[in-house]
Amino acid sequence: MIKLIQTSEELLKHRKNQDKVGFVATMGNLHEGHVSLLEAGFKDFDHMYFSIFVNPTQFGPTEDFDKYPRTIEKDLALIEACLKKYPHKSVTVFNPKDVYEIYPKDFKLQISIQEMNKILEGEHRPTHFDGVTTVVYRLFALINPTKSYFGLKDFQQYIVIKKMVADMLLPVEIVGMPIIRETTGLALSSRNQYLNPVQKETALILSKTLNHLKELINGKKENLALAQDYIRTMIKDPNWDYLTIRETNTLTEKIENQSSLVILAVYRQEKTRLLDNMQLEVK
Ligand code: AMP
Repeated sequence: MIKLIQTSEELLKHRKNQDKVGFVATMGNLHEGHVSLLEAGFKDFDHMYFSIFVNPTQFGPTEDFDKYPRTIEKDLALIEACLKKYPHKSVTVFNPKDVYEIYPKDFKLQISIQEMNKILEGEHRPTHFDGVTTVVYRLFALINPTKSYFGLKDFQQYIVIKKMVADMLLPVEIVGMPIIRETTGLALSSRNQYLNPVQKETALILSKTLNHLKELINGKKENLALAQDYIRTMIKDPNWDYLTIRETNTLTEKIENQSSLVILAVYRQEKTRLLDNMQLEVK
Protein backbone atom coordinates (compact mmCIF):
# COMPACT_ATOMS: atom_id res chain seq x y z
CA MET A 1 0.00 0.00 0.00
CA ILE A 2 1.19 3.49 -0.80
CA LYS A 3 0.00 6.70 0.84
CA LEU A 4 0.87 10.13 -0.50
CA ILE A 5 1.13 13.02 1.96
CA GLN A 6 1.80 16.63 1.00
CA THR A 7 1.69 18.59 4.25
CA SER A 8 3.74 18.38 7.45
CA GLU A 9 0.60 18.58 9.55
CA GLU A 10 -0.92 15.51 7.92
CA LEU A 11 2.44 13.74 8.11
CA LEU A 12 2.70 14.23 11.88
CA LYS A 13 -0.87 13.03 12.37
CA HIS A 14 -0.34 9.97 10.17
CA ARG A 15 2.97 9.09 11.84
CA LYS A 16 1.29 8.83 15.27
CA ASN A 17 -0.41 5.59 14.17
CA GLN A 18 2.79 3.65 13.52
CA ASP A 19 5.50 2.14 15.66
CA LYS A 20 9.06 1.91 14.26
CA VAL A 21 9.61 2.99 10.66
CA GLY A 22 12.51 3.32 8.24
CA PHE A 23 13.15 6.33 6.03
CA VAL A 24 14.69 7.20 2.66
CA ALA A 25 15.22 10.86 1.66
CA THR A 26 15.34 11.70 -2.06
CA MET A 27 14.88 14.53 -4.52
CA GLY A 28 12.76 12.29 -6.77
CA ASN A 29 13.31 11.36 -10.41
CA LEU A 30 13.74 7.88 -9.06
CA HIS A 31 15.91 5.11 -10.46
CA GLU A 32 17.06 1.69 -9.26
CA GLY A 33 19.55 3.31 -6.87
CA HIS A 34 16.72 4.94 -4.92
CA VAL A 35 14.61 1.77 -5.09
CA SER A 36 17.51 -0.24 -3.62
CA LEU A 37 17.34 1.96 -0.50
CA LEU A 38 13.60 1.32 -0.16
CA GLU A 39 14.14 -2.42 -0.56
CA ALA A 40 16.87 -2.37 2.10
CA GLY A 41 14.33 -0.73 4.41
CA PHE A 42 11.77 -3.43 3.71
CA LYS A 43 14.20 -5.99 5.16
CA ASP A 44 14.00 -4.16 8.51
CA PHE A 45 10.53 -2.57 8.60
CA ASP A 46 6.95 -3.22 7.46
CA HIS A 47 6.45 0.47 7.00
CA MET A 48 8.78 2.83 5.16
CA TYR A 49 8.70 6.60 4.77
CA PHE A 50 10.05 7.99 1.51
CA SER A 51 10.45 11.71 0.89
CA ILE A 52 10.54 13.36 -2.53
CA PHE A 53 11.58 16.99 -2.19
CA VAL A 54 13.88 19.02 -4.41
CA ASN A 55 15.49 20.97 -1.60
CA PRO A 56 16.36 24.51 -2.76
CA THR A 57 18.84 25.18 0.06
CA GLN A 58 21.30 22.52 -1.12
CA PHE A 59 21.66 24.09 -4.57
CA GLY A 60 24.06 26.97 -5.25
CA PRO A 61 22.81 30.07 -7.12
CA THR A 62 24.22 28.92 -10.48
CA GLU A 63 23.24 25.27 -10.11
CA ASP A 64 20.42 23.20 -11.65
CA PHE A 65 17.60 23.73 -9.11
CA ASP A 66 15.10 24.94 -11.76
CA LYS A 67 16.16 22.34 -14.28
CA TYR A 68 16.27 19.39 -11.83
CA PRO A 69 13.83 16.76 -13.20
CA ARG A 70 10.53 16.60 -11.29
CA THR A 71 8.69 13.42 -12.23
CA ILE A 72 6.34 12.64 -9.36
CA GLU A 73 3.85 10.49 -11.37
CA LYS A 74 6.63 8.26 -12.70
CA ASP A 75 8.22 8.14 -9.22
CA LEU A 76 4.99 6.94 -7.61
CA ALA A 77 4.61 4.31 -10.34
CA LEU A 78 8.13 3.02 -9.62
CA ILE A 79 7.38 2.75 -5.90
CA GLU A 80 4.06 0.97 -6.70
CA ALA A 81 5.96 -1.46 -8.94
CA CYS A 82 8.47 -2.15 -6.16
CA LEU A 83 5.65 -2.68 -3.65
CA LYS A 84 4.20 -5.46 -5.86
CA LYS A 85 7.20 -7.56 -4.81
CA TYR A 86 6.45 -6.84 -1.13
CA PRO A 87 2.67 -7.26 -0.75
CA HIS A 88 2.75 -6.98 3.06
CA LYS A 89 4.77 -3.76 3.17
CA SER A 90 3.58 -0.18 2.93
CA VAL A 91 5.15 3.17 2.06
CA THR A 92 4.23 6.70 3.01
CA VAL A 93 5.52 9.08 0.36
CA PHE A 94 6.07 12.62 1.64
CA ASN A 95 6.06 15.05 -1.27
CA PRO A 96 5.70 18.52 0.29
CA LYS A 97 3.30 20.68 -1.73
CA ASP A 98 5.65 23.67 -1.37
CA VAL A 99 8.86 24.67 0.45
CA TYR A 100 6.89 26.11 3.40
CA GLU A 101 5.94 22.57 4.44
CA ILE A 102 9.64 22.08 5.25
CA TYR A 103 10.72 25.65 5.97
CA PRO A 104 7.88 27.65 7.57
CA LYS A 105 8.07 31.43 6.98
CA ASP A 106 9.96 32.16 10.23
CA PHE A 107 12.40 29.22 9.85
CA LYS A 108 15.89 30.15 11.14
CA LEU A 109 17.72 26.86 11.78
CA GLN A 110 20.92 25.99 9.95
CA ILE A 111 22.99 22.96 10.79
CA SER A 112 26.65 22.99 9.71
CA ILE A 113 29.13 20.19 10.11
CA GLN A 114 32.23 22.35 10.37
CA GLU A 115 35.29 21.62 8.22
CA MET A 116 33.68 18.65 6.47
CA ASN A 117 31.28 21.08 4.77
CA LYS A 118 34.28 22.92 3.27
CA ILE A 119 36.29 20.10 1.70
CA LEU A 120 35.80 18.10 -1.52
CA GLU A 121 32.13 18.63 -2.53
CA GLY A 122 32.02 21.48 -0.02
CA GLU A 123 34.89 23.24 -1.79
CA HIS A 124 32.99 23.15 -5.08
CA ARG A 125 29.51 23.68 -3.54
CA PRO A 126 30.10 25.91 -0.49
CA THR A 127 26.49 25.97 0.80
CA HIS A 128 25.55 22.44 -0.23
CA PHE A 129 26.09 20.41 2.94
CA ASP A 130 24.49 22.98 5.24
CA GLY A 131 21.40 22.64 3.04
CA VAL A 132 21.58 18.85 3.18
CA THR A 133 22.09 18.53 6.95
CA THR A 134 19.35 21.05 7.72
CA VAL A 135 16.74 19.41 5.48
CA VAL A 136 17.61 15.90 6.65
CA TYR A 137 17.41 17.01 10.29
CA ARG A 138 13.99 18.56 9.60
CA LEU A 139 12.78 15.36 7.88
CA PHE A 140 14.11 13.23 10.76
CA ALA A 141 12.23 15.49 13.22
CA LEU A 142 8.99 15.06 11.26
CA ILE A 143 9.29 11.31 10.69
CA ASN A 144 11.30 10.07 13.68
CA PRO A 145 12.68 7.02 11.86
CA THR A 146 14.55 4.21 13.61
CA LYS A 147 16.85 3.75 10.60
CA SER A 148 17.53 5.89 7.55
CA TYR A 149 19.13 4.58 4.36
CA PHE A 150 21.60 6.59 2.29
CA GLY A 151 23.45 5.68 -0.90
CA LEU A 152 27.23 5.42 -0.68
CA LYS A 153 27.24 7.00 -4.14
CA ASP A 154 27.15 10.33 -2.26
CA PHE A 155 29.87 9.18 0.09
CA GLN A 156 30.69 12.54 1.68
CA GLN A 157 26.97 13.18 2.26
CA TYR A 158 26.73 9.84 4.08
CA ILE A 159 29.70 10.76 6.29
CA VAL A 160 28.35 14.26 6.99
CA ILE A 161 24.90 12.89 7.95
CA LYS A 162 26.51 10.26 10.22
CA LYS A 163 28.52 13.02 11.92
CA MET A 164 25.40 15.15 12.40
CA VAL A 165 23.56 12.20 13.98
CA ALA A 166 26.52 11.47 16.28
CA ASP A 167 27.10 15.09 17.32
CA MET A 168 23.40 15.83 17.88
CA LEU A 169 22.77 12.46 19.58
CA LEU A 170 19.86 11.78 17.22
CA PRO A 171 18.12 8.45 17.87
CA VAL A 172 18.40 7.18 14.30
CA GLU A 173 20.76 4.66 12.72
CA ILE A 174 22.30 5.70 9.41
CA VAL A 175 22.70 2.81 6.97
CA GLY A 176 25.00 3.19 3.93
CA MET A 177 23.99 1.19 0.85
CA PRO A 178 26.14 0.14 -2.14
CA ILE A 179 26.28 2.13 -5.38
CA ILE A 180 23.93 0.82 -8.07
CA ARG A 181 25.52 1.01 -11.54
CA GLU A 182 24.59 0.54 -15.16
CA THR A 183 26.16 -2.57 -16.72
CA THR A 184 28.75 -0.22 -18.26
CA GLY A 185 29.94 0.71 -14.75
CA LEU A 186 28.40 4.21 -14.75
CA ALA A 187 26.83 4.96 -11.35
CA LEU A 188 23.09 5.65 -11.68
CA SER A 189 22.24 9.32 -11.13
CA SER A 190 19.30 11.56 -11.94
CA ARG A 191 21.85 13.92 -13.51
CA ASN A 192 23.01 11.28 -16.06
CA GLN A 193 20.08 12.36 -18.25
CA TYR A 194 21.80 15.72 -18.78
CA LEU A 195 24.48 13.82 -20.75
CA ASN A 196 24.43 13.24 -24.50
CA PRO A 197 25.56 9.77 -25.73
CA VAL A 198 29.18 10.86 -26.27
CA GLN A 199 29.39 12.42 -22.79
CA LYS A 200 27.85 9.29 -21.28
CA GLU A 201 30.55 7.20 -22.93
CA THR A 202 33.26 9.64 -21.77
CA ALA A 203 31.86 9.46 -18.22
CA LEU A 204 32.97 5.83 -18.00
CA ILE A 205 36.41 7.25 -17.21
CA LEU A 206 35.14 7.53 -13.60
CA SER A 207 34.47 3.87 -12.87
CA LYS A 208 37.41 2.76 -15.05
CA THR A 209 39.85 5.00 -13.16
CA LEU A 210 38.54 3.89 -9.77
CA ASN A 211 38.83 0.23 -10.74
CA HIS A 212 42.33 0.77 -12.11
CA LEU A 213 43.44 2.52 -8.90
CA LYS A 214 42.04 -0.29 -6.79
CA GLU A 215 43.95 -2.82 -8.88
CA LEU A 216 47.15 -0.76 -8.64
CA ILE A 217 46.87 -0.57 -4.85
CA ASN A 218 45.91 -4.23 -4.59
CA GLY A 219 45.32 -4.00 -0.82
CA LYS A 220 48.92 -2.97 -0.08
CA LYS A 221 50.01 0.26 1.62
CA GLU A 222 53.31 0.15 -0.24
CA ASN A 223 51.43 0.62 -3.56
CA LEU A 224 49.77 3.88 -2.48
CA ALA A 225 52.69 5.95 -3.85
CA LEU A 226 52.14 4.32 -7.24
CA ALA A 227 48.45 5.20 -7.07
CA GLN A 228 49.23 8.82 -6.14
CA ASP A 229 51.56 9.04 -9.18
CA TYR A 230 48.78 7.74 -11.39
CA ILE A 231 46.35 10.29 -9.91
CA ARG A 232 48.82 13.12 -10.60
CA THR A 233 48.92 12.09 -14.28
CA MET A 234 45.15 11.68 -14.58
CA ILE A 235 44.22 15.04 -13.09
CA LYS A 236 46.07 16.85 -15.84
CA ASP A 237 42.68 16.41 -17.55
CA PRO A 238 40.88 19.56 -16.28
CA ASN A 239 37.50 17.79 -16.22
CA TRP A 240 38.40 16.20 -12.89
CA ASP A 241 37.08 18.39 -10.06
CA TYR A 242 38.93 16.00 -7.81
CA LEU A 243 40.36 12.48 -7.74
CA THR A 244 41.76 11.75 -4.31
CA ILE A 245 42.38 9.02 -1.75
CA ARG A 246 41.04 9.74 1.74
CA GLU A 247 40.54 8.00 5.08
CA THR A 248 36.99 6.63 5.18
CA ASN A 249 35.48 8.28 8.28
CA THR A 250 37.28 11.61 8.55
CA LEU A 251 37.99 12.13 4.84
CA THR A 252 41.44 13.35 5.81
CA GLU A 253 44.22 13.35 3.22
CA LYS A 254 46.67 11.96 5.76
CA ILE A 255 46.39 8.30 4.91
CA GLU A 256 49.89 6.94 5.68
CA ASN A 257 48.81 5.08 8.81
CA GLN A 258 45.24 4.32 7.81
CA SER A 259 43.78 1.05 6.62
CA SER A 260 40.21 2.03 5.58
CA LEU A 261 40.37 4.22 2.52
CA VAL A 262 38.02 5.67 -0.06
CA ILE A 263 38.89 7.04 -3.48
CA LEU A 264 36.59 9.98 -4.17
CA ALA A 265 36.14 11.38 -7.66
CA VAL A 266 34.16 13.98 -9.55
CA TYR A 267 34.45 14.25 -13.32
CA ARG A 268 32.74 17.09 -15.16
CA GLN A 269 30.98 16.97 -18.50
CA GLU A 270 30.30 20.64 -19.24
CA LYS A 271 28.11 21.76 -16.31
CA THR A 272 27.24 18.25 -15.13
CA ARG A 273 29.36 17.02 -12.24
CA LEU A 274 29.43 13.21 -11.98
CA LEU A 275 30.32 11.69 -8.61
CA ASP A 276 31.75 8.26 -7.96
CA ASN A 277 33.88 6.57 -5.32
CA MET A 278 35.36 3.27 -4.23
CA GLN A 279 36.20 2.00 -0.77
CA LEU A 280 39.23 -0.19 -0.12
CA GLU A 281 41.21 -1.71 2.72
CA VAL A 282 45.02 -1.68 2.80
CA LYS A 283 47.56 -3.47 5.01
P1 AMP B 1 19.13 11.92 -4.74
O1 AMP B 1 17.66 12.06 -4.73
O2 AMP B 1 19.63 11.45 -6.08
O3 AMP B 1 19.86 13.09 -4.20
O4 AMP B 1 19.52 10.73 -3.78
C1 AMP B 1 18.72 10.22 -2.76
C2 AMP B 1 19.44 9.05 -2.15
O5 AMP B 1 19.65 8.04 -3.13
C3 AMP B 1 20.82 9.41 -1.58
O6 AMP B 1 21.04 8.70 -0.38
C4 AMP B 1 21.74 8.92 -2.68
O7 AMP B 1 23.04 8.61 -2.22
C5 AMP B 1 21.01 7.68 -3.14
N1 AMP B 1 21.46 7.28 -4.50
C6 AMP B 1 21.49 8.07 -5.60
N2 AMP B 1 22.03 7.38 -6.63
C7 AMP B 1 22.36 6.16 -6.16
C8 AMP B 1 22.99 4.99 -6.73
N3 AMP B 1 23.38 4.94 -8.00
N4 AMP B 1 23.17 3.91 -5.94
C9 AMP B 1 22.79 3.93 -4.64
N5 AMP B 1 22.20 4.99 -4.04
C10 AMP B 1 21.99 6.09 -4.79
